[in-house]
Amino acid sequence: MSSKSDASGFTTTNLHADRRDHPEHGVLHKPVHTSVAFTYDDAHDLAAVFQGKKPGYNYGRQQNPTVNALQNRITKMEQGLTSTAFATGMAAIGSALFALLRPGDHIISSAFLFGNTNSLLNSFRNFGIDVSFVDTTRVENVEAALTPATRLVFTETIANPVTQVADLKLIGQLCASKGIIYMVDNTMTSPWLFRPAQVGASLIVNSLTKYIGGHGNALGGMLTDTGLYDWEKFPNILDLYRQGDVRLWGTTQIRKKGLRDFGATLGPEAAHHLAVGSETLPLRMDRAADNAQRLAEFCESHPRIKKVYYPGLTTHPQHQLARTLFRKPGAIMSIDLQDDLDCFDFLNQLDCVIASSNLGDTRTLAIPVAHTIFYEMGAERRASMGIGDNMIRLSVGIEDIDDLLNDFEQALK
Ligand SMILES: *Cc1c(COP(=O)(O)O)cnc(C)c1O
Repeated sequence: MSSKSDASGFTTTNLHADRRDHPEHGVLHKPVHTSVAFTYDDAHDLAAVFQGKKPGYNYGRQQNPTVNALQNRITKMEQGLTSTAFATGMAAIGSALFALLRPGDHIISSAFLFGNTNSLLNSFRNFGIDVSFVDTTRVENVEAALTPATRLVFTETIANPVTQVADLKLIGQLCASKGIIYMVDNTMTSPWLFRPAQVGASLIVNSLTKYIGGHGNALGGMLTDTGLYDWEKFPNILDLYRQGDVRLWGTTQIRKKGLRDFGATLGPEAAHHLAVGSETLPLRMDRAADNAQRLAEFCESHPRIKKVYYPGLTTHPQHQLARTLFRKPGAIMSIDLQDDLDCFDFLNQLDCVIASSNLGDTRTLAIPVAHTIFYEMGAERRASMGIGDNMIRLSVGIEDIDDLLNDFEQALK
């Protein structure tokens, strides 16, 4: 890559990433390459690619040119070292942890997690991996949970649905001082609002399904290695992968033991959708965050709404923290309706706001949390996460703000 492109702004760099990588025929978009297999004029080259002695493609489960172009884009967005794509965000988290952890290891995770990540981490307990769930809004809680076996700390930036903000910078300093992997799920903020590398993250997860793809039309996940973690210190790297550039040891093990062997590979068609969607990330994200701020302020002053959770409100417990960390406080907010209002009646009354799961779509989506995405975890764990039965999570989209405010106004009548 020319240093010229790397010096450009976020959007310029992303828009020109494919082209500057000298794609075939001078195209501006990396083509959708559907070939699963690859060949070389000299069969020696095929062997060299398999042995990692030459760069190249061998089989579509491990690498694909369209997917590689997307990896390259996200690496630039996150200002990381290298990225590995997966079929979904969950596949990125699961494959990375599977490749890196061993029985007897301990990890510390935020207690406020995307529901399926919570479920996944509980499954790792069945394989002898100890998990402590702590409130990551305070670094002291992470520090108190450390044991000699702690290998990794996992947190999201803004948690869903209650919008707790993690003490990202201080946790990063703690992990660095202890030589522990710091894995940050940046899905809620996206690399436009926040770059976890700046607080010392070792590994960054982005569900591309959400803001980066941004249109609710393709699933994908990305794991970015920032290059900040010293893999030499990590005891679980197999001897086989302890060679070459030490900064790539972790990624090599994740690509072999995670991506290749588990096989949750991102398809080229999805990669293309996600790459095109990513081109407008800052435009969409800014607009959605501005809409969320207006809607949150409206809801906070409405008598039929009991409570509003949004880091952009001065009443939010981590409002100042969010201001220091993020460009804007995101576009996810939740509301507790007054007890005399039925959350299903309210949802059915909405017109332009859609009752649906997913988030990070261009459209505003609303979901009754306890009855859907957090149903399986049970009432007790929901209560510990601050999730009540009348809570609605909103993924605010890019509609005209007056239409959103009017829709809320009429549905609350
Ligand atoms: C959606 C989401 C995931 C999982 O991503 P998928 O692409 O749906 O698998 C992980 N973390 C967070 C914070 C999410 O919102």
